[in-house]
Amino acid sequence: MGRDAPASEGPRETPKCPTPYLRAMPAAIVTGSSRGIGAAIAERFAADGYDVVVNYNTSADAAEGTAAAVRDAGQEAVVREADVSEYAGAESLVEAAVEAFGGVDHLVNNAGIDQHVYTADLDPADFDRVMDINVNSAFNCTKAALPELEAAAEAAGGDGASGRDPGPSVTNVSSILAFTGAPIECHYAGSKGALLSLTKSHARDFAPDVRVNAVAPGHVETDMTADRTNEEKEKELAEIPVDRYGRVEDIADAVAYLRDAGFVTGETLNVNGGELMR
Ligand code: NAP
Repeated sequence: MGRDAPASEGPRETPKCPTPYLRAMPAAIVTGSSRGIGAAIAERFAADGYDVVVNYNTSADAAEGTAAAVRDAGQEAVVREADVSEYAGAESLVEAAVEAFGGVDHLVNNAGIDQHVYTADLDPADFDRVMDINVNSAFNCTKAALPELEAAAEAAGGDGASGRDPGPSVTNVSSILAFTGAPIECHYAGSKGALLSLTKSHARDFAPDVRVNAVAPGHVETDMTADRTNEEKEKELAEIPVDRYGRVEDIADAVAYLRDAGFVTGETLNVNGGELMR
């Protein structure tokens, strides 16, 4: 594992990263970071001093935009096309991180798709596709990154659970629908519920070296929610005590918190404006 591999030519400024126990320039992989929440997470990680592997599946130009924002923040970005529902795609992201940055310190499993259709009309192939992209992707990327994350823990002194040292971690992006269910998107809600079980299982499996948490967003304004009618929006807003939709930065803030919270693992952070209080 190339923990000592140089990230770039020449020295760079001291990172703003709040995890100084890791190597000088920690690195993150953010899946599905061409657009929406993933792009905001990538930018937040760059602001905190992380180099970032920016992943896209179809939106190449948007991914270059995310990478430009990472570079504007003073960090390095590598852009990789990969379908993370395939294990080979996940492996290629880890290879990119090792090649460019010498390892992986944090993984964000954010890539996801949604589809609105009632079960009576739901093609079983579409059920599988949503599960593949929303759940299998997280398993694939986590398994592929695990040796690098464990190496990062060792480099950090293997003290991840002490509270002194947050250590490397994984954050899975779930959804409020994991708890509420959703009649018109049972496969999406089911995939997000499965992610929470995966989170707890991996948190137990990888402890104390690598923490694993989830964030469960409520309604966030992105392409995924852009098809709402005004009437639907009004109805949704009436259910949100803070009286607004989530912003992508709200979710990026939550992921950054979990990344740095050394005594938190196997947890789900709900970020939904109070729509669901658990
Ligand atoms: P979005 O704007 O539609 O972006 C989805 C991202 O996932 C894109 O970057 C897309 O890449 C990527 N992606 C899709 N399939 C992929 C694949 N097979 N391999 C790699 N990347 C893939 O959605 P978003 O709202 O930002 O959602 C991000 C995450 O938050 C998802 O997991 C979603 O379920 C979750 N979430 C969103 C909301 C919400 O209200 N928006 C609420 C709860 C949870 P390309 O464009 O390059 O294909």
